[in-house]
Amino acid sequence: MTEHSAQLRDGWGREIRSLRVSVTDRCNVRCRYCMPAEGLPWLPKPELLTFEELHRLVAVMARMGVSEVRLTGGEPLVRRDLPDLVRRLAGVRGVEDLSLTTNGVLLDRMAEPLADAGLRRVNVSLDSLSHTRFAQITRRDALDRVLIGLAAAEREPRLRPIKINCVAIRGFSETEVPALAALARERPFVVRFIEFMPLDADERWDADHVLSGAEIRTIVDRRWPLEEVPTGPSSTARRFRFTDGAGELGFVSAVTEPFCSSCDRIRLTADGRLRTCLFSRTERDLRAPLRDSASNAELEEVIRNAVAHKELKHRISEPGFVRASRSMSQIGG
Ligand code: SAM
Repeated sequence: MTEHSAQLRDGWGREIRSLRVSVTDRCNVRCRYCMPAEGLPWLPKPELLTFEELHRLVAVMARMGVSEVRLTGGEPLVRRDLPDLVRRLAGVRGVEDLSLTTNGVLLDRMAEPLADAGLRRVNVSLDSLSHTRFAQITRRDALDRVLIGLAAAEREPRLRPIKINCVAIRGFSETEVPALAALARERPFVVRFIEFMPLDADERWDADHVLSGAEIRTIVDRRWPLEEVPTGPSSTARRFRFTDGAGELGFVSAVTEPFCSSCDRIRLTADGRLRTCLFSRTERDLRAPLRDSASNAELEEVIRNAVAHKELKHRISEPGFVRASRSMSQIGG
């Protein structure tokens, strides 16, 4: 493979630098804002991209300028032998930032092997520090496992920064915010509040359920004043630090303060579909050409064509908004 190809760019001129790779659609928790209690019809194993296939696609995209790869799911840590995949991807020329988004339940025993394999950082999803509230939102009594997992990541200096992602839901999260903000003050974690998006499989999302980043800042600021930290143009999160210097919070306000104009992301589903927006209604199949002996140049062509049609923006707050063709765990959040 030659080393470089033209920078991947969408039809609106945005450079694509970041790829989210879903390694499985399965998950070991059942967050109410994501999956139904009974789970979803899982993909049969032969439909999942193999590690060889994932490696090849990431290498093709890295050649086109994708430098940031985040593994996700479903729950990526339920995919067997994940460190093998990490090791392969860490060796891809051009991949500078290799990270993982996890619910943390299995992180305890995985943090060290993942860091050994070349993982650079982790994002851990955690919506409450109360055992009962955690169980209410995830439908699993697993808070202690997550806290043990976070401690394991903290002990692993190669995994930095450690970010904690909390989905903010009106009527649930207001009471959780102070303890989560305190966690960012007491431990080396960047706590980020993510607005609830219409990607729940149950389709219960409603604009009234969105607890905005601005509202959360008001709750926190009353107790611990915050000041904004400047961010790079493609950052999804607005960053705020505590004025007394005790830590930092992030706000991913995709609903109330969309950042689509600077979006540099694409997504690969566990079954090898390329999605150019979380809210895409269409996908491009990369698995079929892969398994049909396509050359790298042919794969590149399919990817460029799909990316050329990347959506200008999501239209969550516009009349007539139509939901994405899959829910969050099936896409890879
Ligand atoms: N299982 C991993 C985890 O928990 O981080 C990775 C996959 S999970 C789908 C990725 C992220 O999407 C998590 O932070 C989760 O909280 C978030 N998420 C799921 N459904 C969401 C929704 N409807 N709105 C906003 N974020 C959501």
